[in-house]
Amino acid sequence: MSASEWADSVAPIHVGSDPSSETGAVIPSISLSTTYKQDSVGVHKGYEYSRSDNPNRNALEKQLAALEAGQHALAFASGSAATATVMSAVGTAHIISVSDVYGGTHRYMTKVASELSNLQVTWLDLDTVSEQTIIDSIRENTKLVWVETPTNPTLRVIDIAYVANILSNHPSQPLLLVDNTFMSPYYQSPLALGADIVLHSLTKYVNGHSDVVMGALILPEPSPTSKPLLAPFLSKLRFLQNAIGAVPSPYDSWLAQRGAKTLYLRMRAHGLGALSVAHALERAKARGQVRDVIYPGLPSSSRFDVARRNTSAHAKAWIDTLRNSIVPGLGLEESGRGYDPELDGIPFGGMISFRINGGEQETNAFLAQLHLFALAESLGGVESLVEVPEKMTHGGLSEAERASLGIGPDLIRLSIGVEDAVDLIADLERALDAAIPPVETSPNVPQLRFDIQPSDAASEVSDESPLATRLPSATPSEYGDAVKETL
Ligand SMILES: *Cc1c(COP(=O)(O)O)cnc(C)c1O
Repeated sequence: MSASEWADSVAPIHVGSDPSSETGAVIPSISLSTTYKQDSVGVHKGYEYSRSDNPNRNALEKQLAALEAGQHALAFASGSAATATVMSAVGTAHIISVSDVYGGTHRYMTKVASELSNLQVTWLDLDTVSEQTIIDSIRENTKLVWVETPTNPTLRVIDIAYVANILSNHPSQPLLLVDNTFMSPYYQSPLALGADIVLHSLTKYVNGHSDVVMGALILPEPSPTSKPLLAPFLSKLRFLQNAIGAVPSPYDSWLAQRGAKTLYLRMRAHGLGALSVAHALERAKARGQVRDVIYPGLPSSSRFDVARRNTSAHAKAWIDTLRNSIVPGLGLEESGRGYDPELDGIPFGGMISFRINGGEQETNAFLAQLHLFALAESLGGVESLVEVPEKMTHGGLSEAERASLGIGPDLIRLSIGVEDAVDLIADLERALDAAIPPVETSPNVPQLRFDIQPSDAASEVSDESPLATRLPSATPSEYGDAVKETL
C-alpha cells in the first residue's frame, strides 16, 4: 500500500478487519483460545498455539504493516520487548545509536545486551554529526544503526533520508532502524525514507488511549536490491518473536487495532493542537514567562527544515489542504490572512518541550495551577499530559548526562491531547500567569489570550466527585465539548 493510497485513511480502518465470514460481525471477535483443533496431525486452519500465532495479533500486524507502508509487522508485549528482540537478533556485534535514545533502550543496550551478547555501541549525535564521522564509526561487524527522531525530551530531529543514504552507500550496508514512536506512522514514514526497520511503542500514539502497553516492528519485503542483512534479520525476528515469546495478549491486540483505526484523525488533532500551543508558548516567551519553546514544526526552530523533510507524504498532502484556512489558536483571525505553513509552521506530532523562565519553584507553581494537563509520564493519549523530565522520565540519568542533554529543573514536556487547543492554551496561560507575572511586551507582539474565567459554580462540585480534584477552579461546562469528552 503506497503512501498516497494511505492518505484516504482506508488502510487502518479496513486492513485486518474483514467482516467475519461465519457471523458477519463487522468488528473482529476476541480470540482467547490458546490452542486450535487440528483436523488431522499437522492439518489446521493456520493456527496451532497462541504464542506462535493468534487471529487478533495477526489482524493487528496486518494493519500495522499497512500503516507504515511495509510488508511485515511483528507485535510484542511492549516497545521494550520489541527492542529486546531486535538486540537478540543483532547478537554479538557492533551498533551505532543516537546518543539521547529512549531511556529504556539505553538501559537495555548498556545493561542487558552488553552483558548477554557483548553488544558494542557507539553513541553519536546523529543530528549534527558529519558524514565522515558516521562512516568512520562503521566497523566490519556493525549490523545496525539505531535512530530515534525526534529525540526525547529536547526534540532534536535527525534527517532519516540522509543517514539512510550514507548507510546504503557503505560497503557493509548496516541496517537502519527508526524508533517512530514520537511521530507515529501518520507524520513520519521511515521506510519511505530508506529505513529498514520501524519500531513502535504502540503504548503511545498508535493505541492512543493510554490503556495498552505494546510494541511492534515493521519491515518491508526483502528484494534482490535490499541490503544483504535484511532477509536473514527478518526471519530471525520472526523466529525470536515465538522463541522468546514476549507477545501481546489477544485482548490488548484487539484494543490496539481499534485505537489505530482512528490514528489519522487523532494525529491531525494532536498536531494542530501542538502547533497552536507552541505559538501560545512563544507569545508567553515574549511576555517573559518562558525562555525557550521546542517544537520542530515552528519556523523559528533550527530543526524546521529537517522536520519538513521527515514529514510523510500523506501528512504533507493534508497540511497543503489547510493552506489559507483559519486554523484556530494561531492568531490568524487577528492577522487577516489564512494559514501559511512557511509563516505559521506545520503540525509535527503532539510533543512540545519548553523552558519556563525560572527554576524548580516556578515549575512547581506552574504545575500546581494546571487543571487540564495531568502530571504524568508517557505520551500519545487523547488526554493532555505534562511532566518534568529532570525528576520523572529522565530522573535515572546522572546529573552530568542531564546537563549535556539540556535537561534542567526548568524543562517541561507536554503531550498535547485531542482537546480543543483554545482550552489547553487557556489552561497553560492561567498557570503561567500564576507562576510568573507577565512583563509588558512591545506593541508588535500579538496580545492574543484565551482566558476562561473560573466561575462560582466550581464550589458546587462535591468533594466526592473526581472532578473536584481535577478541576479545582473550573467546571467541565466551561471547557469546550472536545475537552469534556476526555475528562
Ligand atoms: C515508551 C517508549 C519506548 C518503550 O516502549 P514501552 O511500550 O514502554 O516498553 C521506546 N521508545 C520510545 C521512543 C518510547 O517513547
